[in-house]
Amino acid sequence: MTGPLLEVISRHWGYSTLRPLQQEAMAAALSGRDSLVVLPTGGGKSLCYQAPALLKNDLTVVVSPLISLMKDQVDALVACGVAAAQMNSSQSSLEQRATEKDALDGRIKLLFISPERLMMPSCVSMLRAACATTFAIDEAHCISHWGHDFRPEYRQLSALRDLFPGASIHAYTATATETVRRDIVAQLALRDPLMLVGDFDRPNLTYRVLPRREALKQVIGVLDRHGGEAGIIYCLRRSDVDTLSSALQSRGYSALPYHAGLSNEARRSAQEAFAAERCDVVVATVAFGMGIDRPNVRFVLHTAMPKSIEHYQQETGRAGRDGLEAECVLLYSGSDAIVWKSMTEREEERRQTAEIDRYCWGTTCRHRALLHYFGQQYSSDTCAACDVCLGETEDVPEATLIAQKILSCVYRLRQSFGIGHVVSVLRGDQNERIRTRNHDRLSTYGLLKDHARNEIRDWTYQLVAQGFLIQTQDEYPVLRLGPSSREVLRGEVTIQLRQPAVAKKPDRRRVRAAIAGAGEGTVNGQLFEALRSWRRRVAEARHVPPYVIFGDRTLREIAASCPTTLVELRNIYGIGDAKLSAYGGALLEQIGPFAAS
Ligand code: ADP
Repeated sequence: MTGPLLEVISRHWGYSTLRPLQQEAMAAALSGRDSLVVLPTGGGKSLCYQAPALLKNDLTVVVSPLISLMKDQVDALVACGVAAAQMNSSQSSLEQRATEKDALDGRIKLLFISPERLMMPSCVSMLRAACATTFAIDEAHCISHWGHDFRPEYRQLSALRDLFPGASIHAYTATATETVRRDIVAQLALRDPLMLVGDFDRPNLTYRVLPRREALKQVIGVLDRHGGEAGIIYCLRRSDVDTLSSALQSRGYSALPYHAGLSNEARRSAQEAFAAERCDVVVATVAFGMGIDRPNVRFVLHTAMPKSIEHYQQETGRAGRDGLEAECVLLYSGSDAIVWKSMTEREEERRQTAEIDRYCWGTTCRHRALLHYFGQQYSSDTCAACDVCLGETEDVPEATLIAQKILSCVYRLRQSFGIGHVVSVLRGDQNERIRTRNHDRLSTYGLLKDHARNEIRDWTYQLVAQGFLIQTQDEYPVLRLGPSSREVLRGEVTIQLRQPAVAKKPDRRRVRAAIAGAGEGTVNGQLFEALRSWRRRVAEARHVPPYVIFGDRTLREIAASCPTTLVELRNIYGIGDAKLSAYGGALLEQIGPFAAS
């Protein structure tokens, strides 16, 4: 079975190997056994139904939630020489009739349909007549109430089994929770489905959690590390988006804002500019989410802690979908958890916030911690791709002593003051509030005078996160001692606090040759840029996103090996027959001046 599949994949997509579980998933699609395929973002779910469709005699129907993405998906397939088409409300009735005729005449292998269209009786009869025997449900978690993207129109898909009793149904999702998976199987009435659950780790992502000190400066630091690359900056509130995007614009960074408070027009144009690579950085609330299919996002930066690990996974999942290295930076303050707690009432949500809070101040490998959360084991000792394993954070020396000083200051202040005042007292500040209350006479006054204000704040919040201190949720929150603070004061427990290591700044990107397919050292940067702007021009002329022409990895491989013949080009990742004949000549022209030198 692998032979013909690999042959089809090489001819149309220009790939030479299969990714984990793809073979099993494709075998299920070919043999008509129902399946649920769970792979992380970028794991290659689409190929699992696209490649088998080409080896089958009948029609494969793909159900996909976003009409706006359907066009891109179809364009990408057509560019690879695959007979694909779409049917949804964005088309004229003339176009729809033409597509129907093509489907009935067997000229289409893959037909993308929106769920609401699929359920129309006329569509059902047409698909029966066109011998639709395979249904691929993309983003299948949209069918579940328990998921993060429930779509009522997906619920109607429950009728599919009865409408097409002889067909096989294949569900694809990146969702990690058991409940949602079970719900998908039940809702779609999958029959003895093959369950394939992949490894959730994203080895090409480097995770960093940094204490938020001077957010703007830290954001600029990340932007400068990624000059000219694509990234998404997530903020908690709309007002933060507005402030940050204008601060960046006034410093000459072209960053577009995106949040639900902007007009539809402004949002659409930001999204389009990002997809077409006319804009590289978007500052957004979580409203900027589904529908971003730009695969070369090189960084995702959170300016505050997200709501849960599921949200974090979802949002960082948008980085590095092309499998090349990407960075996820989270700027964290202990106060973030308090903000979230004040906004959520449900016990379950509070538990989730506590989990991500623990992740943020945690001291274990980030890849390991994330996998563990989703119930999987991380197999190696070090990931070499997170702040912890890269040695970018370190233990604060004498953390127990520091913790004792902070806790006793809270105690001396009769557990009645907020963090700002506690820090001022510990630092030995001179101000009105301290003088009038005689707090400069406390034994804890100035105990941490050698440390910076934001350091003490960080440590205090870490103690809150670890439960040794409690911050009340009143209008003016005050610090109180937590249940086990006594043990700390008596020296019965050892405290661990973390801080960024002074000597170790995040590197400029590391490229892992295995993932990149070509080591950065060998990539000709000028050629890569020339190829990128060529790609942008071609994409614009064809009204498709640049990645439909070629992904970054293809351009990188070209820029590394400088092929000078069509045969050499055909061996490059992502260049199949169709793209070779469409763009081979133009590529060689671009490469020419660089190959000669
Ligand atoms: P997912 O839907 O799981 O997020 P995609 O299907 O979009 O992921 O695949 C991510 C990228 O990886 C796409 O560019 C896809 O063409 C590519 N890809 C998929 N399978 C392979 C493979 N076997 N070899 C190389 N690249 C692949």
